[in-house]
Amino acid sequence: MNFQLTEQQRQLVDSVHDIHRRKLHELCKDDSGEGIARLRREMADHGLLGLNLPEPLGGVGLSLLDTVLLIQNLQACSSTLGALSHRSSTGAVGAIVELGTDEQKRRFVGRVCQGEIGIGIGITEPEAGSAATALRTSARIDGDHVVINGKKQFVSFVNHNHFTVVYCRFGDSGSPKDIGAVIVPHDAPGFSHSRGTLNMADELLFELYFDDCRVPRENILADGNAFGRLISVYNAERLGSIARMLGSAQASYGMAVEYSKTRRQFNREISDFQGIQWMLADMRVKLEAAQLLTYRAAAGAGEHGLPVPFETSIAKVYTAQAAKEICDDAIQIHGANGYTKEYPLAHRYAEVRGGSIYGGTLQIHKNMIASVILDRPLSQWKKSR
Ligand SMILES: Cc1cc2nc3c(=O)[nH]c(=O)nc-3n(C[C@H](O)[C@H](O)[C@H](O)COP(=O)(O)OP(=O)(O)OC[C@H]3O[C@@H](n4cnc5c(N)ncnc54)[C@H](O)[C@@H]3O)c2cc1C
Repeated sequence: MNFQLTEQQRQLVDSVHDIHRRKLHELCKDDSGEGIARLRREMADHGLLGLNLPEPLGGVGLSLLDTVLLIQNLQACSSTLGALSHRSSTGAVGAIVELGTDEQKRRFVGRVCQGEIGIGIGITEPEAGSAATALRTSARIDGDHVVINGKKQFVSFVNHNHFTVVYCRFGDSGSPKDIGAVIVPHDAPGFSHSRGTLNMADELLFELYFDDCRVPRENILADGNAFGRLISVYNAERLGSIARMLGSAQASYGMAVEYSKTRRQFNREISDFQGIQWMLADMRVKLEAAQLLTYRAAAGAGEHGLPVPFETSIAKVYTAQAAKEICDDAIQIHGANGYTKEYPLAHRYAEVRGGSIYGGTLQIHKNMIASVILDRPLSQWKKSR
């Protein structure tokens, strides 16, 4: 067991900060549709998309641990870089790599890695939040097409994506066994989406509408019996989002250290005060503990496997909590400056706050951890009488 980064990993991390400084810093300021498209292509040119995806499919072929390290550090540089690297690596495209046909991999994965397209994930519905298997969106095969009806909500990044992997039901038994997934192009007939609702971190979350939406049959990723496999892949997506929380916490901690050394009150630097020193020490302890749990979960996946759900849930619960506290303390150390939008700290806090909700809420992850500890079934469904 070795808890230190290798020389190669340190170089990888340094190279990301260097590329950000030299090539990406300015591009990150433009979050228009064109700006994101340009940034995607530039990141692809520097090998920063498709980090853990297999090289034969156009990916960089890194291990999940190295991928998590890079997503964390890209996020520390800029939330947009963290989002794009995460979504193109451990995001919905992973479901195509794991479950897709050779033809689907050929059609979609390389284009994601080249920065040509973005793919999101549509699971959540009005009546199916934490109880994801309650989803109702239906899929019916009709000749060469699959016809989808239903609604999704709280879906991220739809305005910058071109496809969504939509979880839907291929039967009407009501059991999770009906659940499969379809890769839906955003220009498919019968597909539309809302204008989006701003969340706390000023990101848009969308509703997706499927009204006899017709998609070519070759876009079916799984025609039922796939919920377990889809969620196994989704654990890699969860680790990517945990890495993003680490990146925001790392950046906030770094800013707090620097600010404490320059801000003067009572004719001395505020870092002279033990009250501030203890906050910095607590922040560092939490950051390192969160990193170790996250890196363990990523390393547990081996070279190109999937993370162990138990380790992923532990990393998620601790990191989400720690990141909120670190970002909150960073705001505190900056005083009123930290609370303004002139500084990026309020945005960092708002972003990590979402991590306690998306990808399974903290309560759902604690249920998963407890079900392993107590060796009890995870199902939370009330039994019908
Ligand atoms: C920033 C952000 C981005 C998102 N992006 C996407 C996306 O791209 N695609 C997508 O499909 N979804 C996305 N979501 C939706 C997200 O996955 C859901 O919000 C999440 O699964 C929780 O569902 P809910 O909001 O309906 O909460 P609910 O399930 O209604 O939960 C409400 C409260 O009850 C608690 N609760 C529920 N069941 C239990 C239980 N069994 N035990 C204990 N407590 C319980 C929850 O922990 C929570 O505190 C996103 C959400 C956010 C915030």
